[in-house]
Amino acid sequence: MKKYRRAWIEINLSNLENNINEIKKIIPTNTKIMAVVKANAYGHGAVGVSRELESIGITDFAVATLEEAIELRRAKIKGNILILGYTPIECLKEVIKYDFIQTIIDEDYANIIIKMNFKEKLKGHIKINTGMNRMGIDNKNLNLIEQIYKSNNIEVLGIFSHLSDSYNESSSSKEFTKKQIDLFDNLISSLKNKNINVGNTHIQGSNGILNYPELNHSFVRPGIILYGLYTEKYINTKCKINLKRVLFLKSRIISIKDIKKGSFVGYGRKYEALEDKKNAVVSIGHADGYPRSLSLKNAKVLVNNSYADVVGIICMDYFMIDITNISVKVGDIVTLIGEDENIKAEELASKLDTVTSELVARSGKRLERVYIK
Ligand SMILES: *Cc1c(COP(=O)(O)O)cnc(C)c1O
Repeated sequence: MKKYRRAWIEINLSNLENNINEIKKIIPTNTKIMAVVKANAYGHGAVGVSRELESIGITDFAVATLEEAIELRRAKIKGNILILGYTPIECLKEVIKYDFIQTIIDEDYANIIIKMNFKEKLKGHIKINTGMNRMGIDNKNLNLIEQIYKSNNIEVLGIFSHLSDSYNESSSSKEFTKKQIDLFDNLISSLKNKNINVGNTHIQGSNGILNYPELNHSFVRPGIILYGLYTEKYINTKCKINLKRVLFLKSRIISIKDIKKGSFVGYGRKYEALEDKKNAVVSIGHADGYPRSLSLKNAKVLVNNSYADVVGIICMDYFMIDITNISVKVGDIVTLIGEDENIKAEELASKLDTVTSELVARSGKRLERVYIK
């Protein structure tokens, strides 16, 4: 069969490298980047992205699950891979076998592991709760944290926390974040006072990096900014860096139709042509990750350098656009997420009342990732 792509994601690896270099400009020289490539690298393709990152010198990766970690190892990613989330106790032998690093996610998890009897030590980073109250051991639980460091079952390579409000500009958000930072720093000092080698420390994700770049930890953990995106459209971070977006969602026109005045288009007859129109069918739908909830929200796509309106309800495998004033033929390429103002991920996420991570991470399995430089 001749290669034909109905819809695909173009991944610009030069832009990925640009973003790494931009992040390096604002973090301390001794701080390393731990690339967050969970959720299939936010939809960008975990293997393709991690290979590129490894080739430009990134040695540390973070994923959410054991399965994600195994995918990278099987693809010959040699770097350190930290599993940020929960791994069932009975799967920890896999973590050891593949030489991953497991997050010690809370008190109960720590207590179970301490009492086990591994042949080889489990590599771990201890997660500390400083106010997010999702995962993490209480920052005041010095006793347990010390026990973990001394456990024969765990080789503790690091300790980290997560900022829950590093994005907002309000003074109360800033105060809260400062408090999280202080609690983490105080814990580290207390451990050092007890002559414990704390290992690698880290606390900042993307917004922590952009708003608190002065923190001096072993790692930063950028996710969304690696991919050149801001969390939301209206964001005002302390540091402005020159991010370049990495993901371009593309598809093709597969059919063109004249729509007579007074006729309807699509499911539920939500669109009625108020005059004679010309529509085109784009061969991508909500099963590919172009959200159905973008229907009837003035979403636009780019085709032959013009914007076309999305018409009616987005279907599972297709949707329709208005090309009445645009010269378009079957086979032409349509860009759904890209660089231009109306098709930026930030703009679409704003229409959907969500963050850019959700929009890009939902891009579907059916789409091939095409890597370009
Ligand atoms: C997802 C995640 C990150 C990356 O978050 P971004 O806001 O996308 O940079 C960092 N740390 C932890 C613990 C995470 O779960």
